[in-house]
Order: sequence, then structure tokens, then C-alpha cells
Amino acid sequence: MSVTVAHTLDEALELLAATPSATVLAGGTDLMVELNMGHRRTDAVVCVNRVGELRSWRHDPGTDTLRIGAAITYAELMDAPLAGFSPALAQAARTVGSPQIRNAATIGGNVGTASPAGDGLPVLRALDAVVHLASTAGTRDVPFAEFATGPKRTVVQPGELITGVTIPVLNGFQGYSKVGVRNAMVIATASACLAVDTNGHTVRLALGSVGPVILRAPEAETIAVQAADFEAGTIDPEAIPAFAAAAAAAARPIDDHRSTAAYRRRAIEVLSRRLLTRAFPAPTPGASS
Ligand SMILES: Cc1cc2nc3c(=O)[nH]c(=O)nc-3n(C[C@H](O)[C@H](O)[C@H](O)COP(=O)(O)OP(=O)(O)OC[C@H]3O[C@@H](n4cnc5c(N)ncnc54)[C@H](O)[C@@H]3O)c2cc1C
Repeated sequence: MSVTVAHTLDEALELLAATPSATVLAGGTDLMVELNMGHRRTDAVVCVNRVGELRSWRHDPGTDTLRIGAAITYAELMDAPLAGFSPALAQAARTVGSPQIRNAATIGGNVGTASPAGDGLPVLRALDAVVHLASTAGTRDVPFAEFATGPKRTVVQPGELITGVTIPVLNGFQGYSKVGVRNAMVIATASACLAVDTNGHTVRLALGSVGPVILRAPEAETIAVQAADFEAGTIDPEAIPAFAAAAAAAARPIDDHRSTAAYRRRAIEVLSRRLLTRAFPAPTPGASS
């Protein structure tokens, strides 16, 4: 097997163009497991986690968006300054694996694997992220909603590299929660990301591990928007159970070795309710407004 380490984006793209069947390696925390277990075979590997263009990020104050290079690690996402721009991505990053995994694993690798259980992915779906792809033929941008076509299946073509993702920097609550069989080092059996845009008066809810791809819960989002007072930061408490029920109804879970569909649906109901209650906390009795 040939293993080549690219140091620039052009070099990585040239290597992939020369060997379109080559497999991209970033942190290796998914790929090495698959190769070691014989679930995947490859003759050529192009290592991209030393490519400067993929290791960088940029906040554009004009559009108030954050472009995150594909080789940015979870360890980098969970701390300042990146955590300040995307609190939900930071929360998701803190739940990933162990410190060793978070130091190696990249956001591009999470996107590339496209597991419905990937912790970064509900955040990208809730924030309507855009995935940036490049090859020697040019570049293209794909809405995250259209990026995964099924479990671990994506629109990435041979010779293409994920160069990064762009997300909006929102003014409002963002939260990510997951449940698994234990508290640490766990793949989510159900997960949810809630993002409130106080300026745009939107509430976005994305669900992980409960469908072939990451799902949105549009009916739940509408219920929340209609019941919310974005200026006061409050919500009609009677809407909260309806919101949680609509979130559970949007899930398309299956029974598998990690959980049952019924448990997953119930978990989504609980996670969604908790996130909405954190986003719009009930006023303290007696507190002046
Ligand atoms: C012990 C352990 C615990 C884990 N815990 C979690 C967890 O809690 N939550 C979670 O979400 N994941 C977890 N994972 C999975 C893994 O860490 C993540 O999915 C991680 O984000 C993968 O990133 P990577 O850089 O290691 O990807 P790699 O393994 O290098 O690559 C993953 C896939 O993406 C492709 N790829 C990578 N980068 C690019 C690119 N720039 N362009 C195109 N394709 C690319 C690769 O070809 C491969 O198919 C865990 C893994 C292990 C081993």
C-alpha cells in the first residue's frame, strides 16, 4: 500500500487526481478501525492532516460566518476561540471519544464518514452548514442537507477532497445533547442539536442516530417559533410537550445492536424538551423583567 503525506492543498488534489481510487486519511480514527477490521481495503492513502489550508479557520465579519478547515480537530473546536463562534459544535466536540481521539479526529473526517451517529453532524445540519469540496477540476459547495445520501454514503466523488464547512454565527442559544449506553467514550444512540437565531426568529432542531441521515424536525421548529417570544427569551410552556412530541414524530429510528427504535424515539422526545427548556428558561417567580 502506498501512503503519501500531502503538505499543500494543491499537492493533495494532484495526488488524488493521479490516483482517484486513493483513500483520504485525516486523523485516522474511523479509517484505521475500518482497515484494521477488514471492513475496508485500499491500495493508496493520501494523508491530509498536515495540509495548512485544511488546518485553518476564518471568521468573516461581513457575512458573520465561520469557515472551518476539514482538518480542524475536535480538541480545537471545543476551546476558545472557535467555541465562542459555535457553542453547539464545541459541546458536541466535548462528547467525542477520549482526549486522544479528540486530538486526532477531525471535523472533515466526521463529515466524510457520514455516520448518522457522528456527533458533529446534527450541529452542521441544524446550522444549515455548507460543505466545501475541491478537486483538480475545480471546487463546489454542497448544502449539508444534501451531502449524505444514506448511512456512510455521500456525494463526494473520486478525486474530491472535503476542504471545509461554513456555518453561520448565530445570536442565540445553541445546545447539543446525546444519550448512549454510558456517559463517556460512547457512540450516540440518539442525539439532538437545537439552535436559536434571536435576530432571524428561527429555531432549528436536528436529530442524530434516528434515521439513515441526520434529520431536521420542521414541525417541531414551527411550534417553537410560534410559541416563542424572542425578545423576552421566553416560550409558552404549554407548547413544550407538543414540540417534544413533534420532534419524536420526526425521528425515523430502527432497532439495532445499540438500542431499540422505541427507546430512541423516547430519547429524542426527552432531549428535545430539555434543549428547548434550556433555550427558553422559565422566568424565576418574583423576578422583575
Ligand atoms: C475510540 C473511538 C471513539 C470514537 N468516539 C466518537 C464519538 O464519540 N463521536 C463521534 O462522532 N465519533 C467518534 N469516533 C469516530 C471518529 O473519531 C470521528 O468520526 C472522527 O471525526 C473521524 O475523523 P478522522 O479525522 O479521524 O477521520 P478519518 O478516519 O481520517 O477519515 C474518516 C473518513 O472520512 C474520509 N475523509 C477524512 N477527511 C477527509 C477529507 N478532508 N476529504 C474527504 N474525505 C475525508 C476518509 O477517507 C474516511 O472515509 C470514535 C472513534 C474511535 C476510534
